[in-house]
Formats: sequence, structure tokens, C-alpha cells
Amino acid sequence: MLLTAVYYDGRQARPHPVTLCVEGDKLLLQGRDIVRREDLNRLKIPPPLGSTPRLILFADGGRCEVADRQGFAEMLQDAGNSAVAGLENSWWYALAALLLTLSLLAAAYLVGLPYAARVMADRVPVYLLERMDTQFFASLDQTLLIPSALPAQRRQSIQDGLQRLALPPGGGRPERIEFRGSPTLGANAFALPGGSVLVLDDLVNLASSDEEILAVLAHEMGHIREKHALRHMLQASVVGLVMAWYIGDVSSLLAVAPTVLLETRYSRDFERRADAFAAELLGANGIPVSRLADILQKLEDAHQTAATKQPIESVEVMDYLSSHPNTEERIKRLRGL
Ligand SMILES: [Zn+2]
Repeated sequence: MLLTAVYYDGRQARPHPVTLCVEGDKLLLQGRDIVRREDLNRLKIPPPLGSTPRLILFADGGRCEVADRQGFAEMLQDAGNSAVAGLENSWWYALAALLLTLSLLAAAYLVGLPYAARVMADRVPVYLLERMDTQFFASLDQTLLIPSALPAQRRQSIQDGLQRLALPPGGGRPERIEFRGSPTLGANAFALPGGSVLVLDDLVNLASSDEEILAVLAHEMGHIREKHALRHMLQASVVGLVMAWYIGDVSSLLAVAPTVLLETRYSRDFERRADAFAAELLGANGIPVSRLADILQKLEDAHQTAATKQPIESVEVMDYLSSHPNTEERIKRLRGL
């Protein structure tokens, strides 16, 4: 739509015949030696007054008179519609951009973060891994853990049984086994980031045989082999990960490690893989896989009893307890092997 109009540049009184049209959100004004392209929303358009020509006022003092009032009204209407359409478009774009951003964030969280954690876990130096475990014990020995009350002979027989296990290539043998008691954590075992395994007295006392304890240790070795604790810790402490990444200093993670380990849950996937490794390891060493299912059932029962006894004080810990809702499923799967 093209309208004819008269343009005054605001400095001279000379009228310039021009044509007007709207392009998107701009007004295009063209004359013999004038071209102006102005944002519509920067123009002042006074409301119609009697039968006088319509006015367009430019910010720099220029103005335009449009005699075709009807045509001008139609042009404004079209411009308004396209402006609204443009606005709607921009809403859609904004929404699409938001969704895209959220998807990227979700992907970063679900895929990127675990991937980054896996890559990082392989790069954490051994001395730092050892320090993490040492830190873990130093911190928890003050709080949740007490010295083990198991006879030295009992502990030794478990250590010996562990040494006799033949492992497939690819590692997984614990750096060390530490026995402790814990009134709060009850029957449990933990694979620590540095490859140590913490075995609690209640677990040993709950087991009917060393084979059941070895089954638990086999499961923990599955975690150690794939550095699940470390990866989980890295994943759970995104801030630490970012800091470690930028500063190249993983030691900041040491401080948060014990807390994170106790408060976070292993993913189902980690548990499934640790169970699968345990089944393979037990099978290869002539220990029935059902030993793991048996001890899992006992752990489940023990923790359920403990939970009903002191529902408020129950501390959420990883591993057997953490996988609590899935324990039935895990037992079923192991029984099916
Ligand atoms: Zn586990």
C-alpha cells in the first residue's frame, strides 16, 4: 500500500512530494531526493482532527501531511496488525528460545554432567583419591563412626576371603577395607571415592556367612571399578566440579566429600551395574549369586525395622539404604540370574 503525502524537513518551509508505505515495523518515506526509513514506534501520529490532513511527526522536527485520511487510517491499521503479528511472533520465538535453553540445560544436567564427571574421575590424581578417603574417615570418625567391635580374627577372615577372590581384568579390588561401628548408619557398606571400602559391624553381624559379606564387597567392588562414588560426588557437587575445572584444584572437593557421600543417592544405573559385576565376580569364584540377594533381603528387613523404630532420626545414606525403593527389584533380578 502506497500513499502520497507532503513532507517538510523541519528546517525549510519547502514542501516535498513523497510516497509512504509501511515495511514491517518501519515507515518508508521516499521523495525525489529524500529517503527516510523510521521505526513506527518512534513517530508521533496525532489523532485525526476534523477534516484536516493527518500528521506524522518525526523526532528530528520533520513532519508529513497526508491528505488521504481514509488511506492513512488503513495503512495504520495494517501496520498495527503486522506489529501485533510481529509481537506474537516474538512471543513464539521467546517461548521457543526458552524451551531450547531448558532442553540444553536438561541435556547438560542429564548427559553432559555425568559425562564430565566420568572424564574428570579418570583424571583425579591417586594421591587426591587417597586424601579423600582419609578425609572421609577423619571427619566421620568424629561423628557417625565408632571403632569396630568385631574380633580381629573375624575381620582378618573377611580380608582373607577378599584376597582370595579372583578379579577379572579392569581393577576393582579395594585399596583397603576399614571396619567401623555406627549406631546411626546401621548395617551398611560403602565404597569410597578413593577405592576404600567401609564395612560396618552391623552388616557383618547381620550376615549368616562370609560369603554374604563377600557378596556385598563384590557389589562395592563394582562401584570401585567404575569409580561410582567419585563420579557421583563430582556430579552431586556441581559447584565443586566447576571450581575444579576452572581452578584445576580438586582439593576443594575434599571438604564436601563426606557430606555429599552420605546425603546423595546412587543412581539406579550405578546399582544395576554394581550388582551385575558382583554377580559375575561371585559366579567366577564359585559363590552363589543368591548370597547377594539373601544379604540384600536381610539389609532391607533390618533397615525397615530401624526406620519404624526411629523414623525421625533415620539418616539417609547411600547404597543399600539409598536404593531402598528398588531393593525388591534388585533382589528379584539377582534371583533370576
Ligand atoms: Zn551400591
